[in-house]
Amino acid sequence: MRTKIVAGNWKMNNDKEQTKKLIKSLKKSIKKMPLKNTRVIVSPTFVNLSSAVKKAENSKIEVVAQNMHQATNGAFTGEVSGDMLKAIGVKTVILGHSERRTYFGETDKNLAEKVNTVIDKEMETIFCFGELLEDRKSDNHFAVVESQLNNALFHLEAKDWKNIILAYEPVWAIGTGETASPEQAQEMHAFIRSIIEKKYDAKVAEKVSILYGGSVKPTNAEEIFSKPDVDGGLIGGAALHVDDFTAIIAAI
Ligand code: PEP
Repeated sequence: MRTKIVAGNWKMNNDKEQTKKLIKSLKKSIKKMPLKNTRVIVSPTFVNLSSAVKKAENSKIEVVAQNMHQATNGAFTGEVSGDMLKAIGVKTVILGHSERRTYFGETDKNLAEKVNTVIDKEMETIFCFGELLEDRKSDNHFAVVESQLNNALFHLEAKDWKNIILAYEPVWAIGTGETASPEQAQEMHAFIRSIIEKKYDAKVAEKVSILYGGSVKPTNAEEIFSKPDVDGGLIGGAALHVDDFTAIIAAI
């Protein structure tokens, strides 16, 4: 059985007190949920990671980072390394979010280097990818997604995939209120699994968790999560509100 995951991408939101408060409320609201085979993840900004890790101790909440640099250390002003994250108890990192690609120029090539560091350091990544609206309109969405995976992940060995979680996030659905239909999500997730099977084997394809991201809300989560190849969600806006995030977790 594949692991189900509901991950909140908090982006550049929440100061230290708000971070602690949100984790405290979430801890309480999910305490009684059975959450069998399900991981609940939140990703505060770098400066709040340490206090979030402490606050989430002995709970069902995992704290992950939103990005990292591929190098171990050195002259990379403003960056944070995998070792630095591990030293504060964070071993999972979101990579390749469309906002990183759009505003900070991240490319498949440099994401492949970051992924290599994740593997070398025995970390784990939630790897984001997805097509732009123009790709979908021109019916290129499958080709775009295949090329993103090919360029950033398909150099890995089969054994490395235990450290990879995929997050398919059509860029046109992120923060727009526009959601891919459950059928569109399922169609793409099944395609992703099929190309992983072609590149590796059925075992790798069957095991990898593929999350959907893009305007998931309490009102649409259950239908999206009911699709057989959708193993959970990466949630932006709705993850900032404890009631909404709790309802989305309950829908898994
Ligand atoms: C995201 O930023 O990863 C995301 C899915 O955002 P939203 O849920 O707000 O669309």
